[in-house]
Amino acid sequence: MQVSQLLAFTVLFLSATNTFAQQVGEPLPVWQTGQLDIHHINTGQGNATFLVFPDGASLLVDAGAISPLDWRTNKPRNIPIKPTNERQAGEWIARYIRTALRFKANPAIDYAIITHFHDDHMGSPINAARRATGGYALTGITEVAEYIPIRKILDRGWPDYAYPRSLANDSMVTNYRRFLNWQIQHKGVVVEPFQAGRNNQIMVVGQSKLGQEYPVEIRNLAVNGRIWTGTGNETRSLFPDLTPLKPTEYPNENMCSIAFQIRYGDFDYFSGADIQGVLQFGTPAWHDIETPLAKVVGSVDVQLLDHHGYADSENGALLASLRPRVLVIPSWASSHPGRDVLERIFSEQIYSGERDVFATNLLDEAKTAIGDLVHRLKSESGHIVIRVEPGGKFYRVLVLDDTNESFTIKAICGPYPSR
Ligand SMILES: [Zn+2]
Repeated sequence: MQVSQLLAFTVLFLSATNTFAQQVGEPLPVWQTGQLDIHHINTGQGNATFLVFPDGASLLVDAGAISPLDWRTNKPRNIPIKPTNERQAGEWIARYIRTALRFKANPAIDYAIITHFHDDHMGSPINAARRATGGYALTGITEVAEYIPIRKILDRGWPDYAYPRSLANDSMVTNYRRFLNWQIQHKGVVVEPFQAGRNNQIMVVGQSKLGQEYPVEIRNLAVNGRIWTGTGNETRSLFPDLTPLKPTEYPNENMCSIAFQIRYGDFDYFSGADIQGVLQFGTPAWHDIETPLAKVVGSVDVQLLDHHGYADSENGALLASLRPRVLVIPSWASSHPGRDVLERIFSEQIYSGERDVFATNLLDEAKTAIGDLVHRLKSESGHIVIRVEPGGKFYRVLVLDDTNESFTIKAICGPYPSR
């Protein structure tokens, strides 16, 4: 590096350091024009990522509210809702969003994505405490919309919800469709199928005049096994023709997840929902979604872990290609993350260099299973906020207190230069 370059770098670094005062023990300063905020909201009930783009447009990705009974173990999960059990997860998410959008006179969610149809991403109607005027149960995304308007919703099933199998008997999807129909009729909500390959389905600043100053691109990478090829808007299908298959051999719900990538200048963020990449013995190779996606994504600054860091996620090919500097684990169960997954994440044989790993919600059982690797995590509990500074050259990770609604900063990491 030449002296002039070093000077320019230092000036940039200092300006990134001093422009926006963010201090441990103080509330997160309100979003400013040009910043990209990515809030990984922790309710202990599944995924909920809320993004505010440099022009103030917003996107909610998932709004989990798990069913009260654990169908994996048939025991109560007994996971306390964060911050308290006084409200359901959907209401807490809506309240968080209203605080994050307090710079707006009439806060609304411009776009919402439901990545796939599982309770920890959309909400389960089982034992939901209340119903809406439209008759549907208030849970997850349907509850969020009760408190803050949503303008457009993208999912993997609209309009027939029949791939790869009919979801007509699925209680979550049935409740969600009643919600959609009511919202379309009474609130003018627009619903669209998420389309792989496109970079203009979520229209934020990158496509407007401000785009030159704040170059944002949202690339739709995958849905229902159809993935972007990396060329133009072209896609290809990872899944074979289902006709000759038995229903038990069909792709599972997680494999159909929506994946996307966000670019802001040099900054890159990847979110793959619950896709998988570590196969059970005897499973066909097309069940691995991570490896083919890894090739088109390339290196990123920040990755939201696939499938909560469960044992079938984060394979070596994905990590070697993405080489994330920061990883966020949307954890809520004792199996999140798997110890073997953390070993891969920290492996310098898979990729060299530093990496910082943040978990939203580690249960004590998970900590026991993870053992000594727990101490390498930068966070065990909190809302994990990525704040990218105007232009995308630098970003920080801010861990917010999840025991109340104060937005109090518990820890600050960075600034990291975007790569
Ligand atoms: Zn999940």
